[in-house]
Amino acid sequence: MAQLSPLLKQATPVLAARGEGVYLYDEEDRRYLDFTAGIGVTSTGHCHPRIVEAAQRQVATLIHGQYTTVMHRPLLTLADRLSEVLPAALDRVFFANSGSEAIEAALRLTRQATGRPNVVVFQGSFHGRTIGAAAMTTAGTKFRAGFSPLMGGVVVSPFPDAYRYGWDQRAATDFALRELDYALATQTAPDETAAFVVEPVLGEGGYVPATPEFLAGLRTRADRHGILLVMDEVQTGWGRTGKFWGHDHFGVTPDILVTAKGLASGFPLSAIAAPADLMSKAWPGSQGGTYGGNAVACAAALATLDVIRDEHLVDNAAATGAELAEGLRKVAAEFPVIGDVRGLGLMQGSEFTGPAGQPDTATAQRAQQEAARRGLLLLTCGAFGNVVRMIPPLVVRSPQVQEALSIWIEAVGAAIAPPTSEG
Ligand code: PMP
Repeated sequence: MAQLSPLLKQATPVLAARGEGVYLYDEEDRRYLDFTAGIGVTSTGHCHPRIVEAAQRQVATLIHGQYTTVMHRPLLTLADRLSEVLPAALDRVFFANSGSEAIEAALRLTRQATGRPNVVVFQGSFHGRTIGAAAMTTAGTKFRAGFSPLMGGVVVSPFPDAYRYGWDQRAATDFALRELDYALATQTAPDETAAFVVEPVLGEGGYVPATPEFLAGLRTRADRHGILLVMDEVQTGWGRTGKFWGHDHFGVTPDILVTAKGLASGFPLSAIAAPADLMSKAWPGSQGGTYGGNAVACAAALATLDVIRDEHLVDNAAATGAELAEGLRKVAAEFPVIGDVRGLGLMQGSEFTGPAGQPDTATAQRAQQEAARRGLLLLTCGAFGNVVRMIPPLVVRSPQVQEALSIWIEAVGAAIAPPTSEG
């Protein structure tokens, strides 16, 4: 009898049988408050009735209208309706299935459109697991070790990670931009540099928001040298941060935007968006795939757009995110092991550190497990796995935030005082 690969790791022992809103239920019908949202995917909550209805209707109409063979209406309508939320200049979209695949589509576009070989990425970023995306990923060696050689042409420059450096944001930003200029002078000449690829908030790398000055600095350098600015909004898009896009917090517009996760409420769908004149510089036929822009996923994405608008989920993410952040900071004030609480909107991380600021991975992992035992599902992130993150669906309301916080405080308490062998 075949079994699942042992290389697939699972953060909790839960066997999910069904989902409803912010809750998951296991096969014994035990209820869990799901503050993982399938790694930031189920933005409208599990099985939102309007998503279910749209998907069911589409399943009965057309499941797979392969888009390099025929065209179908959900894909055309979605492309058209994305202009409701995309920056105005980004008026051409290409659809794929996963974040990694979209990142690689963006990479191909930047190289073909500029004729330049290299990309600059930022320390601690996560862009995916396929070899090209893994080569651009420095959120942890587990995503890259042991299967080299990775793709060439990737230069890594610092991200303004103030807490890690022990500096204020201004000093961290100055350092990151200075090092970027140094990289452009020492490792990749501007006219060999196709793109800067950046997350508005480091996701897997530990929930570290960028700074406005840092992204503005990237924009200035990109404009000066004809380098493209690619914003990886795979985790930060679709209202997650309390604004529709993560970059909306910083007043900086990218040349290429990469989106996935929250886009289709759980159906596999990703996209890149870029201006028409940029897309037209790449080669016809360089975009495609068997499953991209699946009709059921597109129907779910259209319903997701409607639900986010009609239920004011972006505003809700801002309000409940602020409430969550405030509660997490109160917990951190009680437990010195939590050295930092940070994030934007409903993307909040608590970093566990020891007295000298060293990562305390063991306590973070215990807190995550203790929370799961008490019915609150969480994930960790960060290079050392010592940041516990909360990414609830955007339909979360104040009572559920408070429920999660009360479980969290108990879980952290249990994590720092593990039961003795007698107890
Ligand atoms: N970019 C970012 C910022 C991500 O968070 C992720 C997934 N965690 C990816 C890319 C890769 O997406 P996928 O797992 O769908 O390939």
